[in-house]
Amino acid sequence: MLRELADQDSAEKAKDIDLTVGYQGEPGAYGEVAAAAHGGIPKGFASFEKLLEALRDGEIDEAVLPMENAVVGAITEALEPFANFVVEGMELAAVGLTSVPVRLSLAARPGTPLGAVKRAWSHPAALRQCTHRLAQMGIERVVCYDTAGAAQIVAHDASTDAAVCSRRAAERYGLEVLVDDVSDKEQNGTRFVHLRMADHARAQVSLAFLRTSSMTATARLDVLTGATLLPLAGTTDYPVRMWVLGADAARLQALAPARDVQVVSLGQPAAHAAKVTPPKQGTEPVVKSLPHATARKAPTVVEVGPLRVGGGARAVIAGPCSVESPEQVMRIAREVASCGATALRGGIFKPRTNPYAFQGHGLEALDWLVAAGKANGLPVVTEVMAVDQVKPVAEKAEILQIGARNMQNFDLLRAVGRAGRPVLLKRGAGATVDEWLGAAEYVMAGGEARVILCERGIRTFETATRNTLDVGGMLAARPLTHLPIIADPSHAAGRADLVEGLARAAWSAGADGLIVEVHDDPARALSDGEQALIPARFAELARNLALHPDARLPLAQLRAWVDAIDHDLGVLVQRRLEVAKVIGDSKRQTGRAVLDPRREAAVRRTYQEALPGNKLLADKLVDLLLEAAKAQQSIDEP
Ligand code: PEP
Ligand code: MN
Repeated sequence: MLRELADQDSAEKAKDIDLTVGYQGEPGAYGEVAAAAHGGIPKGFASFEKLLEALRDGEIDEAVLPMENAVVGAITEALEPFANFVVEGMELAAVGLTSVPVRLSLAARPGTPLGAVKRAWSHPAALRQCTHRLAQMGIERVVCYDTAGAAQIVAHDASTDAAVCSRRAAERYGLEVLVDDVSDKEQNGTRFVHLRMADHARAQVSLAFLRTSSMTATARLDVLTGATLLPLAGTTDYPVRMWVLGADAARLQALAPARDVQVVSLGQPAAHAAKVTPPKQGTEPVVKSLPHATARKAPTVVEVGPLRVGGGARAVIAGPCSVESPEQVMRIAREVASCGATALRGGIFKPRTNPYAFQGHGLEALDWLVAAGKANGLPVVTEVMAVDQVKPVAEKAEILQIGARNMQNFDLLRAVGRAGRPVLLKRGAGATVDEWLGAAEYVMAGGEARVILCERGIRTFETATRNTLDVGGMLAARPLTHLPIIADPSHAAGRADLVEGLARAAWSAGADGLIVEVHDDPARALSDGEQALIPARFAELARNLALHPDARLPLAQLRAWVDAIDHDLGVLVQRRLEVAKVIGDSKRQTGRAVLDPRREAAVRRTYQEALPGNKLLADKLVDLLLEAAKAQQSIDEP
């Protein structure tokens, strides 16, 4: 059945019967169809990385990867990990291509009317194929890891959400197909490449990729070689620009300006003869359990000592940009702890734009940071910038930070995922929300479920601020993930004068917490002094956010806080009376009774709810307020 679904474009597949062929996704995914196309036994994997690792480790004989889709072109989600493995030295050969016709249905739980569907879940590549049709129907797109996985999520959820998936996946998870094909293009299809380890296979397909940091160098190669080029983002650090299908690698190499472009071909016949390891008998397709930053589940609450973040609990992490000396971090730790901070931050390895700027005091400073944290009862958060820093830092620091610049350092993400510590993952200054969640997925796939996302400003055209705090992006991420999301107003602003405003904006927008840079001598700070709050201003911010009072606060500060609350209460009571008077006047003008016992009961309930466990006080306050309101409304007690 699966075999019939796929259209094979090379002739001699049937003889590879009973190979185990891996694909990314859940049973019912299009990859499963491609995996079964040549007679293989399909086996699903959580991610493309896991799939390629299984191929490398001999756990499967062959892997299928989607390369190209008729609507959206290159499938970068698959090609980039593929490129990574090849760049890292994995020797692969492309042994076949399979085109799988794609019909993306919109499916929901049985009985859901189409009009009730407001959101549709699917893999980002599938959602991109339906952008216009879904927009026309007013359906919002929600990203998850796989088309069949989307069907599974919707099936387990009691909402009217839909999945964009194959009819097979819909049926497999008991969903009803509402629209048979929601692709923007009628003849949709995805081309999968079949890969084997080079020493087991003779390459049959001409497939190459170009490593280059020069876009212009590759721009005309498609015309020159007649190849299909699949463009990838490519950066100087990650110099894979293009995949090339159907090209003669030798010709490509000859035409490419050798200085800029390196052609790596997976299409040359392998040196060794085709010797395929026999499949294990009776292998059933198995799907490993998946972590899923984007799965639908109850909010993840990360808890480390006094720090609680997520599911309504809010974190306030504060401290210096860099740990400068044992005394500096101890002084600042004491200040932020007394204001109600629940964790201490401080950099020991600093990512600096200028290589001659202060780079951090390294592991020595970790001891200073940890001592300051311990003395003040706070767990510490510090950034790791390289894989070899993870182990020594994780031995002592309670939380590991991945900085914005390293958000897509996949090796580092995997390494912190294995370190056994919660991870604070900053959003890259140029990363989309999807990419940010993808990075979280890497950490989770490494084994760490306690990931805290942090919006820290993105790079825009604006130069008045260091970055632009993307509150919209933070809000857009909220329904997509169960992970806590905090905000960093300091790196977003780059200026101390804007930090409080941005902090309050993020807090009001429902951020699960803040991370704020505080320094007691900003002018002499070794890094980011211009954006540091002095302790007094941090104290004011903490008070404005109504963080929990703490007995460690100096008495004068607690008194000032209470005074401020009393003032606010007085102002609010005055406003309440004014509004009540307007209501009374309006009722009188329209001939309605001014007194309404049901309203009084409702007001009483409001106060009782706001003062749990203090009914007596609530009742007294209501009595007082109603009495004052009636006086304002010129009503005499009956
Ligand atoms: C930091 O927190 O000190 C830092 C360098 O942040 P970011 O990675 O967000 O720039
Ligand atoms: Mn900083």
